[in-house]
Amino acid sequence: MKTIGLMGGMSWESSIEYYRIINELVKEKLGGLHSAKSVMVSVDFAPLEAQMAAGEWDQVLGYLVRAAEEIEAGGADFLLMATNTMHKLFDEVGKAVKIPLVHIVDAAAAKIQEMGLSKVGLLGTIYTMEQDFYRGRLEEKFGIEVIVPEKADRELVDRIIFEELVAGKILAQSKAEYVRMIEGLAAAGAQGVVLGCTEIPLLIGAEDVSVPVFDTTYLHAKMAVEIALGERELS
Ligand code: GLU
Repeated sequence: MKTIGLMGGMSWESSIEYYRIINELVKEKLGGLHSAKSVMVSVDFAPLEAQMAAGEWDQVLGYLVRAAEEIEAGGADFLLMATNTMHKLFDEVGKAVKIPLVHIVDAAAAKIQEMGLSKVGLLGTIYTMEQDFYRGRLEEKFGIEVIVPEKADRELVDRIIFEELVAGKILAQSKAEYVRMIEGLAAAGAQGVVLGCTEIPLLIGAEDVSVPVFDTTYLHAKMAVEIALGERELS
């Protein structure tokens, strides 16, 4: 079994989910008392959140590169950044270490393609919904068309992430807003919606809406397990 490297803490509310999912899947596949071999380095999210908000991405990168180096030194065979947003810096972090990184968009796209869908909605932080690093990869590498909510709703999705979900607050009113937006994206032609922030699955699940949702936390963790157990090549 390969050792999974996890860059966590962004936020820890979702890192716990990664840890739980990878261990549950290994147990399911191998049985008995098997569990995943993993190394996690968990960062302090507060300075990172402030640096992102200030557009200080060079500083964010320095922080992430140090974490990646620690994970590599800890013996991981490959690395997952347990956050969608930080994939903005995927290439730069990848260059700083020898071990390969597993891209969260590739995990989502594999499932979208398996279901034969070609147009999806995307919810995530403002960075993920508005910048090209995430939707551009879905569109250019996988040919999947992406739509996002209107500006006021994008701001609401982002506010709920940073003021509630990363602080462990799960509110019924916010869930209702997310349901409204997902149904709106479906009405605009989305055949499914990517939950493109690793805390969103804490708020909403497949049972809450009328279209398929793509839980990036689960799909990323599942891809890691498949790689660790030799069921999937690192692409
Ligand atoms: N966990 C979130 C994500 O998946 C947001 C936190 C962050 O900015 O890294 O994008």
